[in-house]
Amino acid sequence: ATPTALMVGTGRGAQLGILIKGPEVLESTRRIDTVVLDKTGTVTTGRMELHGVFPGEGTTEDELLRLAGALEDASEHPIARAVARGARERAGADAPPLPTPEGFENLAGFGVRGTVEGRAVQAGRVEGELPDGLEEARAAADAAGRTAIAVSWDGAVRGVLTVADTVKDTSAEAVSKLRRLGLSPVLLTGDNQAVAESVARAVGIPADEQSVIAGVLPEEKAAAVRGLQQRGRTVAMVGDGVNDAAALATADLGLAMGTGTDAAIEAGDLTLVRGDLRVAADAIRLARRTLATIK
Ligand code: ADP
Ligand code: MG
Repeated sequence: ATPTALMVGTGRGAQLGILIKGPEVLESTRRIDTVVLDKTGTVTTGRMELHGVFPGEGTTEDELLRLAGALEDASEHPIARAVARGARERAGADAPPLPTPEGFENLAGFGVRGTVEGRAVQAGRVEGELPDGLEEARAAADAAGRTAIAVSWDGAVRGVLTVADTVKDTSAEAVSKLRRLGLSPVLLTGDNQAVAESVARAVGIPADEQSVIAGVLPEEKAAAVRGLQQRGRTVAMVGDGVNDAAALATADLGLAMGTGTDAAIEAGDLTLVRGDLRVAADAIRLARRTLATIK
């Protein structure tokens, strides 16, 4: 009798906008008690905007934006797109095009580096202390839930850029639907703790150590899921990025945002076609119900 019931489940899934790889993937959903949510692109729109431009000593807003913008223009990361677009917009229509970097390198989970106008430039995660004046910019960004990016060249941090993303207007409802199913939500992100907590609060995830895991490197996301499993949790993971693929594969149930990257969709067991997080709750409910009719 089981195959028929599972077929019904997968057909209903398609109507809801859920693509299921194979009926067998639903087996694990019976015991799911934890839902790990990637932040950028899953809980938030992932469409970042450049907010603040803070040149340090010895540089200007224009130079900072030109060097960082040139580098970020070579990356597809949402932060990179925001910086490159912001640099172009602020330079104005009459400005010369952004220079092309040499020796460009993408440092997954960190940022980018390369040579621009003869300088070895790096833009990425803030690590350690910032020079005077820039520390305030970082603190203000943290308080506002924005991400601060450090821009360095010739061995020193030269300035800070801040970018912000918007929480999807469906995310809070999605989290409350997941909680009503008895699931504990966990926010998992490479972004910093302050930004992660601010997003958690905005969507109704407790901003505590158990529920917010921040500052995680792309290759550590799967380990974070495994850590929860080792503590006895049965984990569903929802993600959209290349950096979520291993975690989606590690989770007991991987749900990929249909709006996300191919790597995430391939790694997931289910795809939420419209990229609507509320459908994650529908998917888990549907799976439970389908399995209940089999039992
Ligand atoms: P998430 O887990 O939220 O999808 P990522 O793992 O892609 O985030 O990135 C983690 C952090 O690394 C970002 O918050 C940012 O500080 C830094 N970072 C990553 N890519 C870039 C980039 N292209 N430019 C600047 N900073 C970056
Ligand atoms: Mg993401």
